[in-house]
Amino acid sequence: MNYLVTVLYIVAFSLFILGLSGLTGPKTAVRGNWIAATGMAIAVVATLIKVRDTAPINWILIAAGLALGVILGVPPAKKTKMTAMPQLVALFNGVGGGTVALIAWAEFIETDGFAHFTPEQHPTVALVAGSLLAAIIGSVSFWGSLVAFLKLQESIPKNVEKRLVASAKLFQAANVVLLLGATAAAIYIGLNAGVGSAPWTIVVVLVLAGLMGLFVVFPIGGADMPVVISLLNALTGLSAAAAGLALNNTAMIVAGMIVGASGSILTNLMAVAMNRSIPAIVFGSFGGGAAAVAGPGGDQGTVKSTSAADAAIQMAYANQVIVVPGYGLAVAQAQHTVKEMADLLESKGVEVKYAIHPVAGRMPGHMNVLLAEADVEYDTMKEMDDINGEFNRTDVTLVIGANDVTNPAARNDPSSPIHGMPILNVDESRSVIVLKRSMNSGYAGIENPLFFLDHTSMLFGDAKKSVGEVIEELKAL
Ligand code: NDP
Repeated sequence: MNYLVTVLYIVAFSLFILGLSGLTGPKTAVRGNWIAATGMAIAVVATLIKVRDTAPINWILIAAGLALGVILGVPPAKKTKMTAMPQLVALFNGVGGGTVALIAWAEFIETDGFAHFTPEQHPTVALVAGSLLAAIIGSVSFWGSLVAFLKLQESIPKNVEKRLVASAKLFQAANVVLLLGATAAAIYIGLNAGVGSAPWTIVVVLVLAGLMGLFVVFPIGGADMPVVISLLNALTGLSAAAAGLALNNTAMIVAGMIVGASGSILTNLMAVAMNRSIPAIVFGSFGGGAAAVAGPGGDQGTVKSTSAADAAIQMAYANQVIVVPGYGLAVAQAQHTVKEMADLLESKGVEVKYAIHPVAGRMPGHMNVLLAEADVEYDTMKEMDDINGEFNRTDVTLVIGANDVTNPAARNDPSSPIHGMPILNVDESRSVIVLKRSMNSGYAGIENPLFFLDHTSMLFGDAKKSVGEVIEELKAL
């Protein structure tokens, strides 16, 4: 039976890796997800076979757990709108971390505070160290993800968020104390393995780590959120691997390490793209001051509004138009309309390209997914570094529901909370047309001087409706 379990695990790991490679492109992502899910189902079956050989299985409990998972997981995944996907991902990620923390707690209870071990729980060092690591990282990940969920859902009132961001230094100092406290409690439990520790000791570890999760994410301001979400994702993977070590479960170790490793690579890529280091994000958020969540205001000058007819004429007579999509494109679900407009422009001999900022939207790859859904050709979607040199020879840049990722203050204004974050150099193009509904700020909550430039005009309204009107005007030309 052992051989069967090993073979099933190897099949499951191969499917995880195959599935992950499918996730590298929107066209293969859905298939990749199914492949990885099949791998997970096989791993669950293999684990049940393995456990059945050593202990009686409570099938009712397992069936109830599966049913609860399906009831809680499937409806939100099906019903959630694309624009709310990032918060759902944050929540699901947190649930993973929370589960791992509970597993660690359960192991502690089952062994009477690591007082005694069954032969299956050998080696005990792995059980104790794995459980304690899983308790700390899982708890940080659960509570941190919960705050990330609330922030993405915009459920934290602006004035409260302002105060949280302004208290960054306080939270950072508290985090050092919490980290030392959780580590000391874990070491105490570890040193008492074989003798046993009181039930409250593991609660201390879980509570201190949980507070740390809250305090790390509380003060993190707008532009740093993408990196933090990806970091929490990596942490959940690592906590699952630690729990796998504790349970001596190879499938959990491998799956956890795959999530941990891919999450860490993504975190690093996003931090590099934002010109930030991970410690700088965790220990000093972008715009640690109140400005990071200040609303629009200040005297920047006047803005010019334009009409769909004007925008259509400008673009129809351009050599090159660059479309800059942002979160507003996802809100308006304007991707298909934008593709239709681009096709019309191309039929008039205009070259159309798309400039993709790495943190545009609310999740990594958000814009690529939306545009791919509308069948936009891959070779017209340009990464920030590849397109930034082209703006100064572009006739018209059409900014559709993007704001923070085009903000020249990140480049020009050292006092700006997002100073240093690489942006799309939209302001360098000959003419800029911005499609948004109002003068409201974007996710980082700051004013965008781009809107006040002489060569910028605003086409106010819902992006889908505005692009639809531009299409009508283009057809009439
Ligand atoms: P922003 O959030 O900066 O701006 C989006 C703009 O879209 C708003 O100013 C809004 O203006 C406009 N908008 C909203 N709805 C519509 C609509 N229906 N029609 C037209 N316009 C609309 O988006 P960006 O993509 O430029 O930047 C992403 C931001 O999100 C960055 O700060 C990034 O750090 C952060 N972030 C990114 C994550 C990621 O992984 N990509 C994760 C978490 C945060 P108005 O209300 O006036 O219409």
